[in-house]
Amino acid sequence: MNTIANQPLPADVQQPSYDRSALRSRIVHIGFGAFHRAHQALLTDRVLNRQGGDWGLCEISQFSGDKLFETLRRQDHRYTVLEKGAAGNQAIVIGAVHESVHRKLEGVEAVLEKLAEPQVAIVSMTITEKGYCIEPGSGRLDLQHQAIRDDLANPGQPNSVPGLLVEALRLRRQRGLSPFTVLSCDNIPENGRVVRHAVIDLAQARDADLAEWIAEQVTFPSTMVDRIVPAATPETLDEIATALGGVQDECAIACEPFIQWVVEDNFVAGRPEWEVAGAQLVDDVLPFEQMKLRMLNGSHSFLAYLGYLAGYQHINDCMTDAGYRQAARRLMLAEQAPTLSVSGIDLAAYADQLIERYSNPALQHRTWQIAMDGSQKLPQRMLDSVRWHLAHGGDYAGLALGVAGWMRYVSGVDDAGQPIDIRDPMLNALQQVVSSTPDDEQRVQQLLALNAIFGEALPKDPAFVAAVTQAYLSLRDCGARQTVQEWVSKGE
Ligand code: NAD
Repeated sequence: MNTIANQPLPADVQQPSYDRSALRSRIVHIGFGAFHRAHQALLTDRVLNRQGGDWGLCEISQFSGDKLFETLRRQDHRYTVLEKGAAGNQAIVIGAVHESVHRKLEGVEAVLEKLAEPQVAIVSMTITEKGYCIEPGSGRLDLQHQAIRDDLANPGQPNSVPGLLVEALRLRRQRGLSPFTVLSCDNIPENGRVVRHAVIDLAQARDADLAEWIAEQVTFPSTMVDRIVPAATPETLDEIATALGGVQDECAIACEPFIQWVVEDNFVAGRPEWEVAGAQLVDDVLPFEQMKLRMLNGSHSFLAYLGYLAGYQHINDCMTDAGYRQAARRLMLAEQAPTLSVSGIDLAAYADQLIERYSNPALQHRTWQIAMDGSQKLPQRMLDSVRWHLAHGGDYAGLALGVAGWMRYVSGVDDAGQPIDIRDPMLNALQQVVSSTPDDEQRVQQLLALNAIFGEALPKDPAFVAAVTQAYLSLRDCGARQTVQEWVSKGE
């Protein structure tokens, strides 16, 4: 079979220049999704291209993607990233991944044994917000989560990622091996602290000594990750095949040229010199994380809900509408920027750069994709900022409009009367509220009463409830385009 591993590729395709046989699985990564392929794996590949070494990646999957892993193996674990920018495209064959273990193909024991190998220094993950089994409202492990209950009942066969990490660390401790660093690369504020809580809370429920050992020995650096990497489509795969001179690569992914990674420099067993590839290794990631989560992800979610309702399929389609463009910039600068503590960064320039990135027509980032899992995303992208404004007397009408947009979205019908395919781990609860509240004001109140998303205080704040209700009713009566335009006009 013809693959990128055995076919000559065009000269302008960048290929690994280092000795791949020297690689060892010093990093084990869980979640070989779109993002990781074009971010951490690519930056590690860049380090290897610069200085060689043995920092190889082993990819792990718990559930999905067994076909993807079979393809990856047929390609000698190589795959392609196509960076698509205004100035042109660059295809890069990534060689840093050299091994993979899939639970469905090899069994959970093989996954655990891989994590317990002595050379493993870092276990990283991109498993989406829901993979941590945390309560979005509290940020703590949800001990009632079905996967966590299963893992407590049967800890040797873990289903959840926290369960996998705790069992792997238990094995390492039992075998007298050093611990590894746990590195979350998901879009969650203080992702290191969240995964630490998830792991230690679960270990505590199993064995207090193990929990103490983990708390003392393991580090959980926080990270801020940034690059827009839309899910692959048949069209992107065809475009990549053309860039590869006709060779198909089903593991390939396209992304924007921009890339940023800010990492707390706290590793217990070493790390690649990611700084030579452009990563920023810092003492405190939090200010960077908040900036990115609120300005980028917050405006992305705003555009995703309100754009989808109005019929815009992609973020760049939203950017062709002057109202949406201004709304995104206004949300960033008037309502998100004041809540931030980051210093030494020109936030107006950052906002302009984001608008430029959103406008990239080559990316085709679907609003539907960004709208997914809103119950897990709203707290860090919008609600923390609302709380800040309530405490400081600031204006949060745009954030309230974003929340109302999410409510209209999860109500299941767009502005053209078409049904919406909603994906969310809280789908049942959301649908129950929607089907039991034909009255719109009541629906807003019942959705706000979902404490796992909104916490205790926000639904009791009359000004916030009124702002969301007013925005919701305007979306119902006038549609998303007009409501967004009216909000922008008020600020002029
Ligand atoms: P994706 O759907 O392509 O990949 C998600 C991966 O997570 C898959 O490998 C899946 O198997 C795994 N996963 C999902 N639920 C899991 C669970 N419960 N347990 C274990 N594994 C699970 O998504 P993606 O675009 O790669 O995004 C992954 C994460 O990367 C996001 O949550 C986001 O935080 C972050 N991120 C993505 C982008 C982007 O533009 N795609 C940008 C910045 C950050």
